[in-house]
Amino acid sequence: MNPDHPATLASLPPDPVSAAAEIHMSLMHWIDLEGVAHGDAAAIEHIALQFMLHGHQPYEGRRREDVNALEHALQCAHLAELAGAPDALVAAALLHDIGHFDIDLGDEVDDRHEERAAAWLQPVFGAAVAEPVRLHVNAKRCLVSIDAHYAECLSPASVHSLALQGGAMSHDEVRDFQALPHADDALQLRRWDEAAKMSGRLTPPLAHYLGVLASLLRQDAPRLTVA
Ligand code: FE
Repeated sequence: MNPDHPATLASLPPDPVSAAAEIHMSLMHWIDLEGVAHGDAAAIEHIALQFMLHGHQPYEGRRREDVNALEHALQCAHLAELAGAPDALVAAALLHDIGHFDIDLGDEVDDRHEERAAAWLQPVFGAAVAEPVRLHVNAKRCLVSIDAHYAECLSPASVHSLALQGGAMSHDEVRDFQALPHADDALQLRRWDEAAKMSGRLTPPLAHYLGVLASLLRQDAPRLTVA
């Protein structure tokens, strides 16, 4: 397995146990998992596998953007890193769309991917990662209401999904959203999300960001907790 190019399964053994062992050995080679609890290391392997299985998919389903799901995730995380965001927000940027991976309802239904992703992330990484992910869809609805330039720059696929997700927020909805814990992080994440659709943009590889995730999970690190 090569985490830089996780779109192919061809190099893995056909039986699941051997494939899982190879993924584990590859991660041990690329990422320092020392100090990460066994269950948490399995979570990192699960994330790596999800990108390997689904990273080649076009971002935003059949309404294609110029990047695939892995490229979009890496660009979003890279923009967060370049902005000096804390590791938890870089992780949220990387993982904000993993809820798309396990379900395909087509392009005419809101798949609530942010809720499924946040529910999985919360017990592993805590609120600092899970909540910006949970709020990133409503952050778009908020930004469309308060920032005309942001609204003008939405891609056609984002405009389409915005309608499915409830459209622009009302004044009262904006006020309530901005009062939520982690709303500021979600708004920032949403701006990186929209900018992370540039074909050919260079980023660090997935292995780099899996290392960031591992650093958040070390047993001696202060554990992220629910707000
Ligand atoms: Fe996204």
